[in-house]
Amino acid sequence: MDHRTVDDEPDVRPAPVIDTHCHLGHGEEEPGTLIDRARARGVVAWVDVGIDATTSVAARARSHALANVRFTAGLHPCSADQLDDDWATIEICALDPQCVAVGETGFDFYWDRSTPARQREAFERHLDLARRLDKPVVVHCRDAFDATFEVLESHRDARAVLHCFAGGVDEARRALDLGCMLSFAGPLTYPRSDDLRAAAAFSPEDRILVETDSPFLPPQGYRGQRNEPALVREVVKELARVRGIAEDAAADRTTANARRTFRGL
Ligand SMILES: [Zn+2]
Ligand SMILES: [Zn+2]
Repeated sequence: MDHRTVDDEPDVRPAPVIDTHCHLGHGEEEPGTLIDRARARGVVAWVDVGIDATTSVAARARSHALANVRFTAGLHPCSADQLDDDWATIEICALDPQCVAVGETGFDFYWDRSTPARQREAFERHLDLARRLDKPVVVHCRDAFDATFEVLESHRDARAVLHCFAGGVDEARRALDLGCMLSFAGPLTYPRSDDLRAAAAFSPEDRILVETDSPFLPPQGYRGQRNEPALVREVVKELARVRGIAEDAAADRTTANARRTFRGL
């Protein structure tokens, strides 16, 4: 007699994916709705990223209320001027067991909202906290590779994730030499991103992550709309295409990397 059950049927569901960088409280929709839609597309966990004291506290609360949501505590470089006001709260949030990383921090010379010196001071403080807590650091780097690498050079022990990586092969090589993980987002799918795709093809399979940075940076085909965690699937598809591997293989690999990088995810 045949004892086949549903579990024996060929699995046509896509392999599980993790959105390693999203801002669940930043959109107009309920985080629970965003998560349900993502879960329907095989997203199984989320890293909800804090950008200042208020959003870090809110992300911490969501991580305790929503299954498989973890969070980070940090101060975005564009808000580095708030360092003295926000830091104590961020430090307390970072101690929470649901907090899987410190950040996002780093440099943003595109918006130029606070001085490079102030951004550096904030970045250093995050690196110091991450080292004390033995957690990774989520690094935001916009138009600032040289400054970012210079700081990371003097923090060789840091476990840095370059989120929404935007460089080419040269920048990828420098980052990989410093031990960084490279996290790819919607821009990987943009027509003009050939250098970025080359970097994604070049990076070793154990150093790549995927994210949405939602609600920002929707992938191609969704531009002009709000991005959301469900669309991390588009990033995985493109990553698989440029690396010449199956989508499920890209999902499996990046999911394993995410769990190794963000302990407790
Ligand atoms: Zn960022
Ligand atoms: Zn972000």
